[in-house]
Amino acid sequence: MDPATMSVSSSSQETIAAVATAVAAGQGGIAVIRLSGPVAEAVGRSVVSVPGQQLWDSHRVLYGHVMDESGKERIDEVLLLVMKAPRSFTGEDVVEIHCHGGLIAVQRVLERVLSQPDVRRAMPGEFSQRAVLNGRLDLTQAEAISDLVAARSRRAAQLAMTGVDGGIQRRINSLRERLLDQLSELEARVDFEEDLPALDAVGLLDELQLVRRELEQLVDDANRGALLRQGLQVALVGRPNVGKSSLLNRLSRRERAIVTDLPGTTRDLLESEIVLEGVPITLLDTAGIRATKDALEQLGIDRSHQALAVADLVVLVFDLSQGWIAEDAALLAQIPNDVPRLVVGNKADVQPLSTSAPLDDDLEAITPDVTLSALTGQGEEALIEAVLKACGASEAQGLVVALNQRQQDLAADAAIALARGKEAAEQNLPWDFWTIDLRQAIRSLGEITGEEVTEAVLERIFSRFCIGK
Ligand code: GDP
Repeated sequence: MDPATMSVSSSSQETIAAVATAVAAGQGGIAVIRLSGPVAEAVGRSVVSVPGQQLWDSHRVLYGHVMDESGKERIDEVLLLVMKAPRSFTGEDVVEIHCHGGLIAVQRVLERVLSQPDVRRAMPGEFSQRAVLNGRLDLTQAEAISDLVAARSRRAAQLAMTGVDGGIQRRINSLRERLLDQLSELEARVDFEEDLPALDAVGLLDELQLVRRELEQLVDDANRGALLRQGLQVALVGRPNVGKSSLLNRLSRRERAIVTDLPGTTRDLLESEIVLEGVPITLLDTAGIRATKDALEQLGIDRSHQALAVADLVVLVFDLSQGWIAEDAALLAQIPNDVPRLVVGNKADVQPLSTSAPLDDDLEAITPDVTLSALTGQGEEALIEAVLKACGASEAQGLVVALNQRQQDLAADAAIALARGKEAAEQNLPWDFWTIDLRQAIRSLGEITGEEVTEAVLERIFSRFCIGK
């Protein structure tokens, strides 16, 4: 991005401040308040009293105290870090005040900071937005940082890091460069056709279609990446005592998702979150699914049915030692047709042989997709593999680059424009027609990296970030 054209916004003249770490009562040994803008250092100097002969140099740590307005009471003991422009996250003068965690001291320090002249509270995503406007990060890197913070599994975090390292930007830029090369060939012909050798139309078209195919691959990969980012909703159903809780306990002893333990994340207690091979999986409660006339129980059942309807996958567990019975078949029938399902025969350690023979003569025989013992762990790996495969998540393992939804939409737009360009060529339309589509594709790719993006679009993107980012 050209900083000269983008940093016209007057907001960069203002100094902004916010708590950059998670805020929760009783939590966090330290918290960081971040300031960015022209008076950041001046604010640091007036809010933090630093004893002795410490140097206010860039990239040095100072020690001191934040005092209240009267200058008599110590609010907190802090470390302060000055990072002078342009060697900072935002590219502006940045000061970080590292105070103690929790709620009260942090808020009081922030209030002290905000009471200084020419400082205001940062808007959501405003630090990242300034970093992009000042050319410190490209748009895909800023978005990837947000994804990294939001990651719910190691795999999702790894994928986000590719973006932070500029992997998305490099990939998109190289495709955009290839299109720009072709555009300049075409435009030269539009203006000076007679002075130039004849256009290699076939070569040009081939190149455009190669780029298009790469874009389509990126769009496909993005769908798989979304599974890693957003995770899967899996409903676990089965009669009482078939071993659902035992299975859940066994699965959750693997890579634990940390989110569930965080304070302040209000979630339905009946859901539990696990991570299988890097894919975050929310197991939905469906305990209430069975026939009942009780009105209260009906409520639970409605919720369970909802769980079935929104699930990416339903895992139906039955008890091999009891065989496949009418109640199991009734549960199977309740699963909406369009939802993928896995039938799991549990307690294989007790009765491994009755896998397909129904006790009830009226019932169709069923062959479980997986046989398992939640007790011994036999069949566990096969189950995990089957779950990931049924959701299409197994192919997400080898992914290196995954676009987010916004980037994916733009890549798809670019691919469509290139397909249109091909039609124009095949109909022998004049070159001007080809260039329209080519320019459109180039613009869409530029919008992914932020190379061609309006301030309004940027504001919309960053407004979805949290305050302090
Ligand atoms: P839920 O009601 O479906 O959640 O079933 P539970 O997980 O509570 O299991 C019911 C009973 O079956 C418990 O006594 C478990 O120890 C036992 N159980 C669960 N899975 C197995 C298994 O694979 N083999 C054996 N032998 N017992 C199991």
